[in-house]
Amino acid sequence: MTPLVPVLLRRIAADGPLSVAQFMAECLLHPEHGYYTTRDPLGAAGDFTTAPEISQMFGELVGLALAQAWLDQGRPAPFALAEPGPGRGTLMADMLRATAGVPGFHAAAQVRLIEASPTLRARQRATLAAHDVTWHDTLDALPQMPLFLVANEFFDALPIRQFRRAPDGWSEIRVAARDGALLFAAAPPVPQTALAHRLRDTRPGDIVELCPSAAAAVQAIAARIQTHGGAAIIIDYGDWRSLGDTLQAVRGHASEPVLANPGQADLTAHVDFEALSAAAAPARVTPMTAQGVFLARLGIAERARLLARAMTGAALDQHHAAFQRLTDPGEMGSLFKTIAIHPQGAPAPPGYDP
Ligand code: SAH
Repeated sequence: MTPLVPVLLRRIAADGPLSVAQFMAECLLHPEHGYYTTRDPLGAAGDFTTAPEISQMFGELVGLALAQAWLDQGRPAPFALAEPGPGRGTLMADMLRATAGVPGFHAAAQVRLIEASPTLRARQRATLAAHDVTWHDTLDALPQMPLFLVANEFFDALPIRQFRRAPDGWSEIRVAARDGALLFAAAPPVPQTALAHRLRDTRPGDIVELCPSAAAAVQAIAARIQTHGGAAIIIDYGDWRSLGDTLQAVRGHASEPVLANPGQADLTAHVDFEALSAAAAPARVTPMTAQGVFLARLGIAERARLLARAMTGAALDQHHAAFQRLTDPGEMGSLFKTIAIHPQGAPAPPGYDP
């Protein structure tokens, strides 16, 4: 039993079953026993890896796409160069290196990281030691100024609620306790205003997911972009509109049952890009684009060839494998999607137009 289990059992005994969102929030961010609070989960020795950890090309191209949006909007200064959920700080470091040659960009940029985990903040401080960085607890704390932001695998870590469709209502799926063990249990069905539109495209028994904090996060980002200018590039795994149970636990690069090791496995759910896009109004949102297509349009093949010239042997093999992994439809190329938020009247960042 993990140290978080007795904490969860006490809370259930006192308050009743937890929503999946409450369970997920405790597992990921409990101050003492939370998954992100207590460890650096990234990389080969950790539990999972992410695009910026696979290749420097990812952060370079995303950084240059944001810099192009900044140029297109007349080089606003100062501006916030922000990232929620920056992991090891690798993506921001690659963006800063790639944009060092864009005249005026670094002088105008204030680097702002939104990170809940003290362990990962320390890791980011080390990675970005050469830069002046400010940390915030939430996106709402970002200053009111032009905002150029990237979020990679941030939204999939935000807590979701799950509902099973009943004939004329929704049963919330909750985490309950029996005989000292955790189990999933469905609450009695009730109508859900937030899911009224899903009565048309679902049938009894179907599961749908809602991520209330994702909508709030997009609103905080989009309001700044619409008012002050800027652009946000959001990349994650998921699809247009949620359907089905997508909650998964990953530990040591393998998936395991969600309730098996609370606090010691990464928990994520697919991102609903329709819900993110709807929350961005009145700012504009690009069409949802597959990661492989996006990176191809930004020139990843050319960048890969250039880097390959200086490589031989195992390093070259690894470089080819990384390119495949980021772009191939059978790997991350189509499971991962991206949208960008930009102000009405300003062009989208490059990479989204056919
Ligand atoms: N973007 C990074 C890391 C993704 S892992 C990469 O691509 O490698 C998810 C990150 O989000 C971690 O840094 C985690 O600590 C952070 N995180 C998770 N929930 C958060 C929250 N509610 N607020 C701020 N950061 C959060």
